[in-house]
Amino acid sequence: MDEWVVDSAISSDLMRELLLFRAIADHSHAVIGAKDLEGRYLFVNSEYSRLFHRACSEFIGRDDHELFPPEIAREFRKADLKVQKRRQTLQVEEVAPVDGQLRHFLSVKFPIFDQHGQLYATGLVATDITSLRQLTNELKLLADTDGLTGLHNRRKFFEIGQHEVQRAQRYQFALSLVMFDLDHFKAINDQYGHAVGDRVLCEFAHLLAGKVRSNDSLGRLGGEEFAVLMPHTTVTQAAHWVERLQKRLRNWALTLDDGSMVRLSVSAGISPLDVEHSSFEQMLSRADGLLYEAKAAGRDRVIYQLG
Ligand code: GH3
Ligand code: MG
Ligand code: MG
Repeated sequence: MDEWVVDSAISSDLMRELLLFRAIADHSHAVIGAKDLEGRYLFVNSEYSRLFHRACSEFIGRDDHELFPPEIAREFRKADLKVQKRRQTLQVEEVAPVDGQLRHFLSVKFPIFDQHGQLYATGLVATDITSLRQLTNELKLLADTDGLTGLHNRRKFFEIGQHEVQRAQRYQFALSLVMFDLDHFKAINDQYGHAVGDRVLCEFAHLLAGKVRSNDSLGRLGGEEFAVLMPHTTVTQAAHWVERLQKRLRNWALTLDDGSMVRLSVSAGISPLDVEHSSFEQMLSRADGLLYEAKAAGRDRVIYQLG
């Protein structure tokens, strides 16, 4: 800890109060600091000094641009200026590099007034929330992902679908929705067991993932139903893609330990975004109807509606 310079002009009561606040600040795990209106540090606590490997005194009189990378310093300053302008406490999530790694902080930034009510500084109390942020991101990913195949789950796929429909309408690009349902999948479960059924679902998901373009979206909508949303793709283009996939599947088999070969075919329905199907739900319902026409027509085929 830096030396605390004692000014004999300070009354002993005031001195005790200063030492009290200093002790609280220095024993806090929060990062605490204060800057003048130009952004120069007036105070940092021990945690600030420990985190950024500088003595407390090295901060004093310097601003964030001298201490942090430009884009980080810019964000800090932006938040400080907001506090100065609004004269109100602000809670903001900030990032800062610590030991070469970007860490997330929840910062409470507040205005500090002198005895005449004049604003003269901004203060900050920041807590490292990196592990919480990571956990939230992991939970979010889990909530969006189908546990078996790793594809988007139904909920996430709907979210993406609704967003893509809005984008396609706004920027006027073609959008096609393909719905797949594995043929006679119950028979695979019945003949080889549920675990093999699960493997087939994963293999199919993997095959799909290997055949889509980077801005296509893939989802498992339920049991053995999958969907692909294809921006910038007409129904005819999507149908050619599905036909190639179906052809590929005809030469595909999952070989089990006992040498038996599990074969698979899929049926598909494709709907465009158009005047009649102008919402994601309408596209989905149309593609679903066409998929069941494909089933009724003998399976292993695709039926589509031209846009
Ligand atoms: P169709 O060609 O008409 O689509 O026939 P199908 O047998 O594929 O359709 P059906 O709807 O009768 O059966 C679907 C089966 O998928 C029944 C269900 O037990 C199975 N299933 C659903 N989810 C899973 C899963 O996560 N794992 C496994 N192994 N099977 C599943
Ligand atoms: Mg089904
Ligand atoms: Mg099926």
